[in-house]
Amino acid sequence: MPELADVEGFRRYFARYAAGHEIESVGVADPGLVRNTSAQGLGRALRGHRFEKPRRHGKWLIAPAEGARVLMHFGMTGLLVWSRDGEDRHPHDRITFRLDEGELRYRNMRRFGGLWLARDEAATEKKLGPLGPDAMEVSEAAFRDLIGSRRGGIKAALLDQTFIAGLGNLLSDEILWRARVDPRSRASKLSRRRVGAVHREMREVLRISNRHGRVPRLDGWLTGVRDEREARCPRGHGRLRRETVAGRTTVWCSTCQS
Ligand SMILES: [Zn+2]
Repeated sequence: MPELADVEGFRRYFARYAAGHEIESVGVADPGLVRNTSAQGLGRALRGHRFEKPRRHGKWLIAPAEGARVLMHFGMTGLLVWSRDGEDRHPHDRITFRLDEGELRYRNMRRFGGLWLARDEAATEKKLGPLGPDAMEVSEAAFRDLIGSRRGGIKAALLDQTFIAGLGNLLSDEILWRARVDPRSRASKLSRRRVGAVHREMREVLRISNRHGRVPRLDGWLTGVRDEREARCPRGHGRLRRETVAGRTTVWCSTCQS
């Protein structure tokens, strides 16, 4: 499922292939994924405009096009595909942007997420909000303030996009494992040292993940073992726990995260 690092990868991909290019037409194979206008409305707003440099906030990709903006959310299975030579579209290419030098395809098998059209910045903010600060951008001081006033568990807090934007299940588990914090801990009860560790590890996990353009499965990471049947703590503590926390399948080590 696309998390911050995946969308950061899509942002770079978009910047590399689509930014600076003129939109000749918009093909909508699945009108249901154009969430707040019609296929015709989307085409009318974009035809003849040039895509500009995209930005990302949390799991959202915001692609301005000389006034209009396309807001993209990738749901569970979304991604972008560039085709220069017009090879056959994939059955899950739901929306396609024919540009002057190729075609950008929004592919999404399971159809969560979608595209929104915003006429200006105010409309963009309205659609995105309420959204917490981007997990890559939030300072330690701001993070401490947020955590201090948060009710409920730390894992639920990290997953909540209105609290902090961009983290999904894999990133949240990885961050808490590295910070040695039990995912069920009450956020506001965490010690100063632990909150600092969560913030530090969040930055570090995101820095490395963003370089990969996804959450990597690395040796020495929880992601490297978490899908194994009898997954063991990479720190050598034996079997990992796997239970539902904050509504999501959560993997952690009861030895180092206690
Ligand atoms: Zn451990």
